[in-house]
Amino acid sequence: MHETAIAKAILDRITDRLNNLHHASNATAVEVRVGEFRNVDPESLSFAFDSLKKEYPTCIACALNLELIETRALCKDGRHEYKASADNAYRCPNCGSAIGTLVSGKELDITKIVVSQNK
Ligand SMILES: [Zn+2]
Repeated sequence: MHETAIAKAILDRITDRLNNLHHASNATAVEVRVGEFRNVDPESLSFAFDSLKKEYPTCIACALNLELIETRALCKDGRHEYKASADNAYRCPNCGSAIGTLVSGKELDITKIVVSQNK
């Protein structure tokens, strides 16, 4: 299940970041931007994150905040920009052609890690 792999990658990245800080710290929240085109199920990802974080001492209290980015594309023929989804089979509603260039939707980035210093 790829949500588990993604959750693990996020936790590893947070741990790396914390290890580079001068003070012992815990992560209290992480913001992750996820593109719809990645086919990530937000609920599965949250569930996997919450299960896995127990194995990471500095992330036990870390909340995962997901920001979903819709899939937008420029079509192949008319260069129209549109919202691509399974509902329109990812085709352009203006001319019916397929995705030429993906404008957004492939994001999978940590945008923010909130840290609290250990006393
Ligand atoms: Zn078009």
